[in-house]
Amino acid sequence: MQVALFSAKPYDREFFDAAAAGGPHSLRYVEATLTADSAPLAEGADAVCAFVNDRVDAAAVHALADLGVKAIALRCAGFNNVALDAAAERGLPVVRVPAYSPHAVAEHTLGLILCLNRRIHRAYNRVREHNFALSGLLGFDLYGKTCGVVGTGAIGACVVRILRGFGCRVLAVDPKENPDALAAGAEYVDLPRLLAESDVISLHCPLNEATRKLIDAEALAAMKPGVMLVNVSRGAVVDHAAVIEGLKSGQIGSLALDVYEEEEVFFRDVSDEALADDQLARLLTFPNVLVTGHQAFFTREALTAIAETTLANLSDLEAGRECPNRVSA
Ligand code: NAD
Repeated sequence: MQVALFSAKPYDREFFDAAAAGGPHSLRYVEATLTADSAPLAEGADAVCAFVNDRVDAAAVHALADLGVKAIALRCAGFNNVALDAAAERGLPVVRVPAYSPHAVAEHTLGLILCLNRRIHRAYNRVREHNFALSGLLGFDLYGKTCGVVGTGAIGACVVRILRGFGCRVLAVDPKENPDALAAGAEYVDLPRLLAESDVISLHCPLNEATRKLIDAEALAAMKPGVMLVNVSRGAVVDHAAVIEGLKSGQIGSLALDVYEEEEVFFRDVSDEALADDQLARLLTFPNVLVTGHQAFFTREALTAIAETTLANLSDLEAGRECPNRVSA
């Protein structure tokens, strides 16, 4: 297949070129984000390959279908950025990479928890200025703490396993219990109990209508004062206006985000521009907030798996085989 790969970065080229070498697919890298406006750049392609902040809304789907594009291959797990109804209506199958390296995301989650708890992000800057004072860097032992994991699929189950290794008690919420998480020692409870008892709450559920703004003012008020909240799932699972209030009042003790509702600036260097998003700008002023730009997945192993699975998905579609990674509305 001729594939137009949107939002292409140098690392996409490296890993996709390696995976495509000698294979049947030919890749054209497009730096632009995929939107209805940029869709014409896919002209001549049989399929487009999109990432998390490509906006494959209904208008983009129709524009792609009008050009003769026959498939949408997501090189990510989440598919909330694709108008699945429109894709179904135009007969465009949508495939994704449901799991590439849950370890990559889970390990980044623990990196955030440890960094934030021990204020390593602040210590790094201080020490470089020859400030070796400890005030403001006080953390807590993770050992013996109660951690709440919301969503115990592939990633959440890995997080449970690692937290158990640190000696934490782990409470879990998921409409579907995962035997791996149970075997690792997770205790399934309902959300109110997880919110009330957890010292650290980590979000690993997908974004859907049930989880949109799951962590709102009411949920925050139900948490332990001083809770650490970590979101590496999707930005809109959290109500950021409520979170800012929670940080101001001290109800939230610390916050780590790898994802954000409007990831317009993510994956780009906008250091020479004024940050237009007032909420993100406010979040970045708090010393107890740590933000990474959707990098939890970003390991060599994950990028290799993403490229290989994406190309295998396209091969399935081209051959008319059932693709296990197809998503539907
Ligand atoms: P998964 O499908 O294996 O697991 C998701 C789990 O969430 C499932 O067990 C599901 O039952 C559960 N769930 C669904 N609705 C829920 C609800 N209302 N409350 C609690 N749990 C609920 O997916 P995964 O591979 O573990 O990934 C989880 C999410 O992490 C993805 O949907 C994606 O949004 C996000 N993600 C982020 C990154 C990153 O780089 N930051 C990378 C990969 C995935």
